[in-house]
Amino acid sequence: MPGTLTFDALKKLVKEGSVDTVLACLVDMQGRLMGKRFHAVNFVETSYKETHCCNYLLATDLEMATPEGFASTSWETGYGDYVMQPDLDTIRPVPWLEGTVMVLCDVLDHDTHQPVPHSPRAMLKKQIARLKELGFDAMMATELEFFLFEQSFDAIRKGGYRDLTPISGYNEDYNILQTTKEENVMRPLRNHLFAAGLPIENSKGEAEAGQEELNIRYSKALDCADYHTIAKHAVKEIAWQQGHAASFLPKWHKDRVGSSSHVHQSLWKDGEAAFFDSEGELGMSDLMRHYMAGLIAYAPEYTYFLAPYVNSYKRFAKGTFAPTKTVWSVDNRTAGFRLCGAGTKGVRVECRIGGSDLNPYLAQTVMLAAGIKGIEDKMELAPPTRGDAYGESDAVDIPQTLRAATETLRGSTFLREVLGDDVVTHYTRAAEWEQEEYDRVVTDWEIARGFERA
Ligand code: ADP
Repeated sequence: MPGTLTFDALKKLVKEGSVDTVLACLVDMQGRLMGKRFHAVNFVETSYKETHCCNYLLATDLEMATPEGFASTSWETGYGDYVMQPDLDTIRPVPWLEGTVMVLCDVLDHDTHQPVPHSPRAMLKKQIARLKELGFDAMMATELEFFLFEQSFDAIRKGGYRDLTPISGYNEDYNILQTTKEENVMRPLRNHLFAAGLPIENSKGEAEAGQEELNIRYSKALDCADYHTIAKHAVKEIAWQQGHAASFLPKWHKDRVGSSSHVHQSLWKDGEAAFFDSEGELGMSDLMRHYMAGLIAYAPEYTYFLAPYVNSYKRFAKGTFAPTKTVWSVDNRTAGFRLCGAGTKGVRVECRIGGSDLNPYLAQTVMLAAGIKGIEDKMELAPPTRGDAYGESDAVDIPQTLRAATETLRGSTFLREVLGDDVVTHYTRAAEWEQEEYDRVVTDWEIARGFERA
């Protein structure tokens, strides 16, 4: 992977004294980096082989609670260990932290040293391998949208998450004047990530006050997910260094535009764009048509992996550029799937369903699996939608709530086949738990609405 350090290069930097800290990180179900900060000498001498973590890390929620109901780990089994095995192809500098490098780890069973089946990185690797067997590589790009706030994370938390002030006072879509004012966060972000080996394309203001987008050049699926995860982490850390907060919550205010994470996808064979056929309608090959047919048909079943929290569903609303229908369209931002680069080698499909809170490994896993299914079954692609897709009354809806998405996930024989029963049951439990936690809460809205008048 370009920009990464070889293990030998790391050893040299440690010997010279320019690196003293190695972050060994796994990616959890929420797409966060979790792990340990190693003294670099210890890492290059011994811990590069493996380290360990409590196995609750792949069965917890955002609060680090230990919900009941996961077969993989529990109080009954004593919350044992997983092996974290550094993937030495992913060592890279962390230029925004002094003397620090990072390595991503694969999560293995403590006894068998086999990949843990519900580990997000293992799940994506499995689908990439299936695609490779068919002779293809997936090239993907995930867009990152988020909000920057005037206040720091600490100030916002101490203030009870009230009176949030976005960093700008007006819609900053493509706005150079406003985004200049945010360069104390965005310029180090672009440059540090670039120096860490991420092929940063650009950042731009998005269509709401304080909203930003970061674009990373498309790359092989696993690299794309690694880039997304590191970049999301960097956004938060660099914003924090500058005294600001950054949020990837899809909908932080009911009257504000939500944040998404669109996923651009294409398949390649021997370095050539396999989605392109100069003779095909709109430049699409049959392969692309089958892939898209699978992607669209199974969208309701895999929506949970694109929208994993209660809040994720607050983004899906008519007339907001967040889709509600599983249809495709040509360069039209109202449909769940948008054909981009029609008639060119860059022809690709953009899935617009995912929120900024998606886990990129899980999102790509399920979309690749759906695309592969479309290819294997030679599924037929329906004609594109024209005009405003929100009004497509015959089209299938994207599940509108976490509860509905949990049920389509639970009932999906397709996902059970391709991911495994245990994996689907694991994530169904995570989804249920999220809903249960929400249902226990009495919200400000209920109190204000009913306190006097009910
Ligand atoms: P827009 O901003 O209009 O959505 P861009 O041209 O900026 O479109 O591209 C969006 C993303 O698509 C970028 O991250 C880019 O790297 C990615 N991309 C371009 N070509 C391909 C491709 N063939 N396959 C997958 N992603 C691609």
